[in-house]
Amino acid sequence: MDRKRRFRFAAVLMSFSVAPGFSQTAPHKWAVVLHGGAGTISPGPAEGIYRAGLRDALNEAASVLVNGGSSLDAVERAIRILEDNPNFNAGRGAVFNAEGKIELDAAIMNGATLQAGAVAGVAHTRHPISLARALMEKSPHVMLIGPSADAFAKEKGLEQVDQAFFFTEQRWQALIKKLREDGQPVPPRPAGAPPEPKKKASVETAHFYGTVGVVALDRQGNLAAGTSTGGTNAKRPGRVGDTPIIGAGTYASNTSCAVSGTGVGEYFIRLTVAREICALVQYRGMSVQAAADEIVQKRLAGMKGDGGVIALGPDGKMAWSYNTPGMYRARLEEGGTPVISIFKGEP
Ligand code: ASP
Repeated sequence: MDRKRRFRFAAVLMSFSVAPGFSQTAPHKWAVVLHGGAGTISPGPAEGIYRAGLRDALNEAASVLVNGGSSLDAVERAIRILEDNPNFNAGRGAVFNAEGKIELDAAIMNGATLQAGAVAGVAHTRHPISLARALMEKSPHVMLIGPSADAFAKEKGLEQVDQAFFFTEQRWQALIKKLREDGQPVPPRPAGAPPEPKKKASVETAHFYGTVGVVALDRQGNLAAGTSTGGTNAKRPGRVGDTPIIGAGTYASNTSCAVSGTGVGEYFIRLTVAREICALVQYRGMSVQAAADEIVQKRLAGMKGDGGVIALGPDGKMAWSYNTPGMYRARLEEGGTPVISIFKGEP
């Protein structure tokens, strides 16, 4: 192809890929906000591990966005990092259900097109967020559950792992503790798990959810949101939380905002937290911060629902709001400095 034709070809391709809200003349400043769950550990030496994990994910998202990559890529890639990090409740390091099994939920949403993909009860796919994205992009469906979701992942060539891959001692001990507190039977240690250590670390379970989520805005002005989780400790097998429910734990629209939530999913579902925040932005003209505060501090807290959200507007305005003692969180915008926080009182 000669130079002129090549140029025209590229221009045509671009015109097809221009999504609603895309401005070719005024590139947007990118921004990303992420969370690693609401609640906190006690301040101390362990917090460094979590801050490092948040930083790794933030860097990954930033490396996509700074190179002009899409918000969807930034969201997926940052969440994959967090899914592999055993300290967060997603992928490896997820909590167990009451029968000692791992069941993972995830969702992703494209704010430019309102396309969404969500999966629940995933047992063998290493990266549920990539499965959610594959479902969104390579199927006519929005949601797939259980073995059918894993089968779809396999069909699309996504890595499959044994349940033991997701095992962490900390989550196993947290399960045993909760089941004993509730007077429920303790299932046998999972097959393939490493032998039980002689000295057990103390288990912090109160006010710690650990779900991961990312919202991003790319230079094309497109928003995306994604969330991935193991759900809640000792949940009933088959229980699905807010994470994969579009509009509850995950939502993105270029016309309002992108949101990812963490906390007790049952409340987020009933309040449709993520969509409600975006609706306040869209129809009442509220800022993303004011809208997030309205829903988290007033509505969610009013129902005694523990949790928090991260939110991002199409104008790049970043927000977070939580009603727990803290939230694992980080944010960065083009030209800015990274903020990585856990406790209340931090920025
Ligand atoms: N929201 C998640 C759920 O209910 C739990 C979490 O945020 O850690 O499944």
